[in-house]
Amino acid sequence: MFANIKIPPGIRLFNKIADFRAWRRQLLLDRQTLGYVPTMGALHKGHLALVTSAKDKCDHVALTIFVNPAQFSPTEDLATYPRTLQNDLDQLAALGPGITSAVLVPSVKEMYPGGIELDVSKQKGTFVEVKGLSHQLEGITRPHFFRGVATVVSKFLNIVQPEQVFFGQKDVQQCAVIKAMIRDLHFPVKMNICPTVREKDGLAMSSRNAYLTPDQRKYALVVHKALSTIESLYHSGQHHAPSLIDAGAALIEQARQQVQKENLDWEVKLDYLSINSPEDLSTISGTIDQQEGCIVSTAVFVGKTRLIDNLLLDVSDSAQKI
Ligand code: AMP
Repeated sequence: MFANIKIPPGIRLFNKIADFRAWRRQLLLDRQTLGYVPTMGALHKGHLALVTSAKDKCDHVALTIFVNPAQFSPTEDLATYPRTLQNDLDQLAALGPGITSAVLVPSVKEMYPGGIELDVSKQKGTFVEVKGLSHQLEGITRPHFFRGVATVVSKFLNIVQPEQVFFGQKDVQQCAVIKAMIRDLHFPVKMNICPTVREKDGLAMSSRNAYLTPDQRKYALVVHKALSTIESLYHSGQHHAPSLIDAGAALIEQARQQVQKENLDWEVKLDYLSINSPEDLSTISGTIDQQEGCIVSTAVFVGKTRLIDNLLLDVSDSAQKI
């Protein structure tokens, strides 16, 4: 199954769910705890930080690498999403011996035994939907995205049966959706949310950053700049959400105009920049309550690449709130 893949010593690589389960069952019998990191592969330091965090809290760490068709729309990048298994395994091995115990890379056929159509109206089978948290923010541009995410994460929680699971704050709405799903479906797992890992200049690490041309990479920085400008304004006393959004959006507009001026053949385009309650993701359209705090989140197209990022303001314990 893994032709031409050199499996680093100490890491168990599984393709079949049953084989993974047999390995996991033995851990349970040996009273060893398991921390789980779900990924789509093309690993970077953001993913590796989740693995390290999992190893701090659990005896063993398992990852899944699965580019989940159910969370892509027919017009998105399922076919071109980077698939870099050898490099992923090498990066995990480079973390040191005994950090990653197992990696499950299942087939689409086994994960979706009834098949999986990208067109939701043609789908058959079992899907999980977290109502109330899935249709705002990311859900406006990607209406079926969180249904795909919740479905695959619930499948994987059933398969992996970890004591603890680790997600990145980079995908803050995903954290809110999964947290609600774990609560509502009574998955016996503790959820951990780890801080966003960034490049030196502030760009949030993402597997999709690989799509950016050198020119686009320069302009991608505006996403972080917009958020950190909002953060500074907030800390200097500006708590009026629309004013904060205007300040951030102005920077993105400047970048858009600059790209146009330079006659580049792609665009910077703001998808959304929003300030929301950490409790229920409702939009804050007036003054931010400092007791409650808020999530500032944005999605910006830089060329065809859609970059997302966020920051939490006065949200003290992200694992509790989101
Ligand atoms: P993905 O492979 O993009 O689906 O991401 C797998 C997990 O890694 C998710 O929980 C993401 O939130 C997390 N993740 C992705 N990028 C980062 C980052 N820059 N910092 C921290 N976690 C991240």
